[in-house]
Amino acid sequence: MAEIEFKSVAKSFDKVGVIAGLDLRVQDGEFIVFVGPSGCGKSTALRMIAGLEETTAGDIQIGGRSVTGLAPSDRNVAMVFQSYALYPHMTVAGNIGFPLKMAGRPAAEIALRVKEAADVLDLGPYLGRRPAQLSGGQRQRVALGRAIVRHPDVFLFDEPLSNLDADLRVSMRGEIMRLRERIRATMIYVTHDQTEAMTMGDRIAVFAPLKDGHGRNLMQVGRPEELYERPANLFVARFLGSPKMNLIEVGEGEMLPFGTMDLGPRPDGHHGALLLGVRPEDIRIAGAGTPGLAGRIRLVEALGAEYYVHVETEAGELIVRVMDKRLRPVSGEAVALQPASTAFHLFDKATGSRV
Ligand code: ADP
Repeated sequence: MAEIEFKSVAKSFDKVGVIAGLDLRVQDGEFIVFVGPSGCGKSTALRMIAGLEETTAGDIQIGGRSVTGLAPSDRNVAMVFQSYALYPHMTVAGNIGFPLKMAGRPAAEIALRVKEAADVLDLGPYLGRRPAQLSGGQRQRVALGRAIVRHPDVFLFDEPLSNLDADLRVSMRGEIMRLRERIRATMIYVTHDQTEAMTMGDRIAVFAPLKDGHGRNLMQVGRPEELYERPANLFVARFLGSPKMNLIEVGEGEMLPFGTMDLGPRPDGHHGALLLGVRPEDIRIAGAGTPGLAGRIRLVEALGAEYYVHVETEAGELIVRVMDKRLRPVSGEAVALQPASTAFHLFDKATGSRV
């Protein structure tokens, strides 16, 4: 059992708050991704689970037991970092077995567990090689092997793929997902990359930096599609999705206009200024003069499989994602934008919360 629970956890460095009011329960066997911009405390949260940092306040429990004051080596947690420092003079087998050797395990047991880890990662044929004789992906797998061999209850991944080139990142992403299917353990994966978060996590926890050391970091926790379809606030709405969600200001007391179209009345009892959010894929480009928000195409980014079309309107510049290749939007063209009927989000402008 390795459920992990943060209970009102806070962390400061030199009196500067980095993490505050962190309450989160990670289920046993779950793969959860901590995602957020650089510097918002994700890595610190992970390091507190591992015991590499102490909490300033609150408590962390692993498997129902408080780990405050417990040495890293007594937590049965393995951490995989982005810089996978392998020992160049040791073979793959030596590298994978190293943690067991340090723990003084007998040679026969080490050999068995190294073979088992190598099988999981398809590294069997390479056990006698040295790191210099491996590809980047194989080296990363050796680093995973070194974590697996200890049979930890919890795997903590700290941006393990951010040093790899794009192709390798995609293949390693698959590798970690496969590992996840073969090994039952609780896994927490830290990244600033929303694509990694969306594709890998059973659940995602979106982190934001504290404001002047105050407030809280955790913006929303849920399944990827939940967060994408119903972001709880502007931060999550703008962080997940590429290109970012478009936002249109709606003044106090106004209806929800989209050019000449009307998206209906405001939510009951809400009179203040709002932001109307529409994702780029939820807008359709129609001919000039048809109902909708009139505009002019300013820029067309052709990405091969799709276009990102930047349209100047009276409500500001909006980005539309066009996936129908028969449409050939042209810069300078006058158009009307129409939202897919229900695909819009409303946020309170002052608080950023969904209304
Ligand atoms: P993330 O993983 O989200 O990029 P980090 O947890 O690494 O963020 O860092 C959060 C903040 O805490 C940053 O402002 C960073 O500079 C600060 N920080 C992290 N570790 C230390 C440390 N050992 N001493 C002082 N400040 C630190």
